[in-house]
Amino acid sequence: MMNQNYAANPDFAATPLFPTSTAGSLPKPGWLAEPETLWSPWKLTGDDLLTAQQDALRITLQEQQQAGIDIVSDGEQTRQHFVTTFIEHLAGVDFQQRQTVRIRNRYDASVPTVVGPVARLAPVFVEDARFLRQQTCQPIKWALPGPMTMIDTLYDAHYHSRKQLAFEFARILNQEARDLVGAGVDIIQFDEPAFNVFFDDVNDWGIEALELAIEGLSCETAVHICYGYGIQANTAWKKTLGEQWRQYEKILPKLKESNIDIVSLECHNSRVPLELLELVRGKKVMVGAIDVANHQIETPAEVAATLRSALQYVDADKLYPCTNCGMAPLPRHIARQKLAALSAGAALLRQELQRR
Ligand SMILES: [Zn+2]
Repeated sequence: MMNQNYAANPDFAATPLFPTSTAGSLPKPGWLAEPETLWSPWKLTGDDLLTAQQDALRITLQEQQQAGIDIVSDGEQTRQHFVTTFIEHLAGVDFQQRQTVRIRNRYDASVPTVVGPVARLAPVFVEDARFLRQQTCQPIKWALPGPMTMIDTLYDAHYHSRKQLAFEFARILNQEARDLVGAGVDIIQFDEPAFNVFFDDVNDWGIEALELAIEGLSCETAVHICYGYGIQANTAWKKTLGEQWRQYEKILPKLKESNIDIVSLECHNSRVPLELLELVRGKKVMVGAIDVANHQIETPAEVAATLRSALQYVDADKLYPCTNCGMAPLPRHIARQKLAALSAGAALLRQELQRR
């Protein structure tokens, strides 16, 4: 028998002020994949893997609910990697033929090769989204890689044009996104860490590609732009960025003009001057108020302080407390406590505003 399929809730009428969510990935259980490891291989195969992934989806949902998260996600429990797992399902990319390229000007990685026209042969995450929808009536956010970040994770031996390949991926992402909306997803988020690196391309065609990916979607749309997971290559890169991280200054003006509804940004413990948020005034902002690069649990007061600062530049009804980035590499108990701190911090600020 089918479970009850809850209806999507696109206007979030039931959600409170400052609805909380996570930027994306959450830790996987140790029986599914090696803990505290990015790109960790699965511990099971075939039907056993499928069942285990669904069980992990149930658990990650329950952990978000117990932590008081308002907009829930799949925690990316069915993906090994936020970009590669999507690309694995596409035609035109040869995973055997590998080349070493520099990822986001930061570190070398062996990547697959684009050998022909890229195409989506079948829906990628739609069954997973439908499964999650069956488990909850809370708003669901679903993350997909952004077109510019996708092309940065591949060697292109076919199009020989970053822009053209990005537009091809945008069309494919749009097909997937439409199917995800059909499955009951309320917010589709595109992860574009590459936006923080290739400013000229972002303004020339990156935002245009993003708008192609969200074309005609009846749900809310978000773009997540961060300084990455707390892995060594990112921590080293951050050290080179100077006292003030002003990368957002180069891309937010054009994003403000775009059709994207929500911009997800890293704000807590980073050197991003929060006044840069003023550049997207009018958009909803997912304000990163949890550091994913350390194991220290934020206090609710610390979370509230970050959100309170952001309130100077983001209207209260448009402020969505969030994590700086995904938490896949963190121990599960740390991630759980950080999520609880996020909710508690948002609640503090909510009470504070009601008292005024
Ligand atoms: Zn991120």
